[in-house]
Amino acid sequence: MIAAPKFAPFNPPRRVLMGPGPSDVYPEVLAAQSRPTVGHLDPLFIQMMDELKALIQYAFQTENEMTVAISAPGSAGMEACFVNLVEPGDKVVVCRNGVFGERMRQNVERCGGQVVMVDNEWGEPVDVAEVEVALHANPDAKFVAFVHAETSTGAVSDAKALCALAKAHDCLTIVDAVTSLGGVELKVDEWGIDAVYSGSQKCLSCVPGLSPVSFSPAAVEKLTSRKTQVQSWFLDQTLVMGYWSGGGRRSYHHTAPVNALYALHESLRLLAAEGLEQAWQRHRDMHELLKSGLTELGLEFVVPEASRLPQLNAIYIPAGVDDAAVRRQLLQDYNLEIGAGLGALAGRAWRIGLMGYGARRENVALCLKALGDVLAQQP
Ligand SMILES: *Cc1c(COP(=O)(O)O)cnc(C)c1O
Repeated sequence: MIAAPKFAPFNPPRRVLMGPGPSDVYPEVLAAQSRPTVGHLDPLFIQMMDELKALIQYAFQTENEMTVAISAPGSAGMEACFVNLVEPGDKVVVCRNGVFGERMRQNVERCGGQVVMVDNEWGEPVDVAEVEVALHANPDAKFVAFVHAETSTGAVSDAKALCALAKAHDCLTIVDAVTSLGGVELKVDEWGIDAVYSGSQKCLSCVPGLSPVSFSPAAVEKLTSRKTQVQSWFLDQTLVMGYWSGGGRRSYHHTAPVNALYALHESLRLLAAEGLEQAWQRHRDMHELLKSGLTELGLEFVVPEASRLPQLNAIYIPAGVDDAAVRRQLLQDYNLEIGAGLGALAGRAWRIGLMGYGARRENVALCLKALGDVLAQQP
């Protein structure tokens, strides 16, 4: 017998989460999650799922029938888009200007797709003209894949222009909207996005672990006319859809994370109550406030102003300042978490998130005060 461990209940402190995610969760969302668990085929739960679908459609601004929340984090949403659509031999133009574009490349490779890379500097948006060159050179390309809001740098790319360009070259688009959804303008139908995925824990301020996804009719057609089976059973959307649609005819696919879906329902309900445009404006307003404070502290942004995401502020760490020590002190003395640099920016930048419920005045004030104090104490 292995002896039974004896631990106290885990009681986390209340941190202020201003990193790249997870973001501060709405109190209403935490409350929703602790409501009684019902069966995942309970008629009341099914009603809630139908509302949830309508709420995801609103957030994405889409009427796509194939719109669901994958029972796994944003990375699984990414994988779902690639494994369902990309068949062996399919050529995919992948735009890479940070960590998540690189992950897209890895997904295409694992699907047996042929990758054509368009690389841009970290901190720069995807260059539409370079994508056009790649499409001209590869008339047999079937997809263009890009990250709308690159969380590793804080740069936003012109999703509307990239989708229009892809359409003009008869390509379907696969778009990472994990950090953009709820934080900046995103219009799936109007822009002609074919496959889009997001995450619960960024600007939706829900608990981590869910991934809203949506597939356009053209993407569904590509999926249903596949010559090969989707290699992932769990992520095969043709199977998942039987679970998410059909009202009373719903059939078991997997056990939904019932309580986590209550949480997503509540966070999207709050977003709808605020209104998408109001939420986008609030993120811009809080970013302006933070920006002026950071500038006063002498801190410099990684991303040029024109393509800066309001919800992810990457700033250079001043010369001689101890990256880890500053973040440790912020956490210990102010209960404040900011993000470290990722990939090419590791050790060189901090990432300050203003996501969802986190994008509010008191957070900006706390962050500026704490960062000012801690930097002043640096040797
Ligand atoms: C966070 C993030 C992901 C991954 O989401 P997880 O929920 O961590 O799996 C993917 N893409 C982008 C742009 C992200 O910011």
